[in-house]
Parts: sequence; structure tokens; C-alpha cells
Amino acid sequence: MLNAELIKKKAIEYGADIVGIGDISYYKDTMAQRDPKNILPDATCVIGCGFRVPRALYKAMEEKRQYFNYTQLGVKLIDEEMSEIFLLKMAALIENAGYDACVQRNVSNLRIKGDKTTNPELIDTYELALAEPVAPNKVVPEIIMDFADSARICGLGSVSCKGNVLVPKFGPFVRFVFIVTNAPLATDKPFEKSLCDNCKECEKACIGNAITNGELNSWQCAVYYRGAHKSNPFMTDEFLKNHPDREAIINGEYRFDSEKARSIYKDLDFLPSKATGYAPCLCGKLCDIACYNHLKEKNLL
Ligand code: SF4
Ligand code: SF4
Repeated sequence: MLNAELIKKKAIEYGADIVGIGDISYYKDTMAQRDPKNILPDATCVIGCGFRVPRALYKAMEEKRQYFNYTQLGVKLIDEEMSEIFLLKMAALIENAGYDACVQRNVSNLRIKGDKTTNPELIDTYELALAEPVAPNKVVPEIIMDFADSARICGLGSVSCKGNVLVPKFGPFVRFVFIVTNAPLATDKPFEKSLCDNCKECEKACIGNAITNGELNSWQCAVYYRGAHKSNPFMTDEFLKNHPDREAIINGEYRFDSEKARSIYKDLDFLPSKATGYAPCLCGKLCDIACYNHLKEKNLL
């Protein structure tokens, strides 16, 4: 019989590191374009699963030894391959028992209409600015769930001041998938405490000054994530040679919006990205490393 215990056992067996189940009622205040009930109207719950990203991938970047494997294994492989096989196996388990399983992987390069942010991990991100509902009582497609809040609702972790999820075992070194289902499963309580204490260590660590008063500027982040700071070991004197703001940019002092960021994307081409669509991380994710170290010091991990 399909129940929460079997779902959790199989999720771990199929490769997840953490799993929790959130009651659909906790989405009552969620905006329509992010509401799982607009994906599956008779949904009863959301199953959340997390995959750890190996610590050593971050350490290798921090020590400037290796960068590309973080992007390939820690980002792309988890989101593009491991997650998908995992989700399809879980869907088969649920649908063989007679229920629906709407599987949700990270929709990395799309933004819902009205969301002007970007995902620094992709070579570019597109807002579905022209999407319209097909009838007056319909929602604007595409429905894209809020993964961070869903992880909280599923009891897996808390949402930090800068919007990412911190989990008790892995801190920020984790990625998520979700399954919206009408299976009648016992649910977990949402994660109530906050692991983020607003210490601002992430803010201090960011070489691109992309976090201000706990708020992440995703366009500022996107430029420095892909190597605009002088600490990028692949940068040469040729980088932005004739740009009037070169010094401010490589020192992390320049302020970017979407237009300014996109205008130098073509110059931020230090390691291959075109084959996968993923931008190699050349800031070393120092924000997350600082956060992980802070949480470790506080014995929260
Ligand atoms: S480093 Fe501190 S402020 Fe930043 S996300 Fe982690 S706990 Fe929160
Ligand atoms: S350290 Fe890197 S990933 Fe973190 S906020 Fe700064 S640029 Fe973005």
C-alpha cells in the first residue's frame, strides 16, 4: 500500500538524501502562478526531496584548484539528469498505486511573468513576459513553484534572508525536486525555526557585492558568478580592456541591472558553457561557503 513511509523509503533508495511531505493547505497564501493546486487541482500534498552537493566541490573552488566540476556535477547533473530519473521512478511508484504524480524539477532558465530576476547558473534566463491566460478564470502559464518555500513547507529546511534554503544536515549545499500528488499521504510539519540568523557572513564573503542588507541582487550575482571579479584566475589583461568602467567592475564596485549585466555576458566566457547552457561558477560560491562555515561553527549542522 502506498503511504508516506513507503514514499520516504523509496525516495532514499532512489537517491535522495532528505525527504519530507508538505500538506497542500500550507499553500493557501501562495500566489496563483506558484501554487501547486494550479498544477494539480485535487492535490493533497507535495513531496519534497533534496540532493546533497558534495562539500569538496566548494572547497576546490574556494582554494582555486578546480571550478568546472561544481557546475557539471553539483548543478547540471543533479538538476538535469539525477533529478529527472529520480522523479520518473517516483512518479511510476505513485501512479502504479492509482494516484497522479506531477513531477517538478528546477525550471532553471524560465521566470514567471512579472519576475524580473535571473538565475546566475544559466547562460541566460527568460521571463515569460508575453504569457496570457487562455480564459478569464485561468491562471497565467507557466506555473513555477517556489522551491524555497516548498522546502520549508515540506519540513526540510528554512529559507534564509537571501532566499536560499538551509537544511540541518547540509546547510546551503543542497538542491531540490518536488512531486505534487493527490495520494493521501501523512504529512510533516513545516520547518519552523530559522537556521539563518542574519549574520551577514554571506554578504561579507561575496566578491561582487551582490548581497545588500540580506537581499540578493540576482543580476549583480550573475555577473560575478561567471567571473567578473579580479579574483577569477582565468582573467587576463584583455578582459574588458577598453571598457570605461573596467576597474570598478573587476573590483566588484560597479552596480549591474539586467541590461548592463547582459551587455558584458559575452566577455564573461572563461570556461565552456555553450554545450550545456550552464554558466561555470567562477566566484567560488563564497557566499554559501561562508554560510556553511558559520552554521558549522554554531553547531547547527
Ligand atoms: S551567512 Fe548568515 S546571513 Fe547569510 S544566509 Fe547564512 S546564516 Fe543567513
Ligand atoms: S558569492 Fe557568488 S554566488 Fe554568492 S552572491 Fe556573490 S556572486 Fe552570487
